[in-house]
Amino acid sequence: MRHRIAVVGGGPAGLTFARVLHRHGYPVTILERDSARDSRPPGGTLDLHEGLGQLALAKAGLLAEFQALSRPEGQAMRILDTAGAVLRDWRPSPDERANPEIDRGQLRDLLLGSLDVQWGREVAQVVPGTGDGVLVQFADGRQESFDLVVGADGAWSRVRPVVSSVTPRYTGVTSVETSLDDVDNRHPDLAELIGDGSVAVYGVNRSIVAQRNSGGHVKVYVKFRAPRDWHGDLDLADVEAARSGLLSLFDGWAAPVLDLLGHGSAFVHRPIYVLPESHTWAHVRGVTLLGDAAHLMAPLGAGANLAMLDGAELAESIADDPQDLDEAVRAFEERMSARAGRWAAITMAGLERLVSPDPADALALFDQVQPS
Ligand SMILES: Cc1cc2nc3c(=O)[nH]c(=O)nc-3n(C[C@H](O)[C@H](O)[C@H](O)COP(=O)(O)OP(=O)(O)OC[C@H]3O[C@@H](n4cnc5c(N)ncnc54)[C@H](O)[C@@H]3O)c2cc1C
Repeated sequence: MRHRIAVVGGGPAGLTFARVLHRHGYPVTILERDSARDSRPPGGTLDLHEGLGQLALAKAGLLAEFQALSRPEGQAMRILDTAGAVLRDWRPSPDERANPEIDRGQLRDLLLGSLDVQWGREVAQVVPGTGDGVLVQFADGRQESFDLVVGADGAWSRVRPVVSSVTPRYTGVTSVETSLDDVDNRHPDLAELIGDGSVAVYGVNRSIVAQRNSGGHVKVYVKFRAPRDWHGDLDLADVEAARSGLLSLFDGWAAPVLDLLGHGSAFVHRPIYVLPESHTWAHVRGVTLLGDAAHLMAPLGAGANLAMLDGAELAESIADDPQDLDEAVRAFEERMSARAGRWAAITMAGLERLVSPDPADALALFDQVQPS
């Protein structure tokens, strides 16, 4: 049975879906907006959980390769108070494999493997129920029809409007990201502060977290409660203005902590949006959603994991019941939405505690979830 299946988006969800379906012998057309594999920086590091992202990689036949690339030591976590005193200093045991870290770029390359992605194919709109299946209209005016179109195109999905009128809402928490290169040689004091994994500092309604990636690269994330347009006239593209604007939000914090913001060469603003925790939709023949397109949630280490498991499970559902594509999709949607609803509640509650009026909330959350 040969269905015409397309996935819109070559992120963790779309690539895992395509990879697992290929493994079962089914071709998938991958439509990706980016013009090429390396057209933009791939982003920071991801921790892949045993029962989620790692399970998806096992279904894709890629677990051993992941284990060879990933950084179990990257699970280490140090928490400081705003005066720079160490409150927690957790290091994983050498055989701890619950949530090893991997750079997003490495994960993408692993999933891409020999997959044939159609780059530069930005989808503008999807129209179901035409005589020839589901019509995909591209931004460049071209169009093509498929039996199944899978929207794995992230937070601002162009496929989602076919099944749901819901759009992401701003959480009231925003984030600014910067990065440091070659930290061990250029900033040895910061390298020591960050250790093998992450260092986090929680204050009143704000936090600074620095995470080691591979190759001495570090991502620094600042989160704080603010209106979405908090920066007003502050031009974040003006690096020194952005830096001093951010530093003013952390007035009184200890110098070694603030030094994490002292060296970044660019600042990227990422307001945090989520979809409603209970986001579901009435099944539409020939169209479905995966990952952030289906269940965008607060960035607390679950989104990519869930996106990958969604992709693997939809592929398996189709491979298990290739005669009835619609039923395979429907069965998957039920399972996915139950799981996503649980995680959306967990991650939103987590965001409230990590960016809280009482910094003790963050510490309590850490003590609750961290393996002893
Ligand atoms: C700062 C930060 C840190 C995070 N850390 C973690 C973590 O540690 N662990 C974790 O599990 N999750 C983490 N997440 C969440 C994670 O990044 C997302 O949940 C995950 O990337 C979702 O994968 P996806 O494939 O659904 O969507 P995306 O990764 O957004 O991929 C969507 C793809 O679709 C393409 N696309 C978009 N629109 C179109 C279009 N119209 N036509 C064609 N292609 C299109 C995009 O170019 C992109 O390649 C983090 C998120 C942030 C912001």
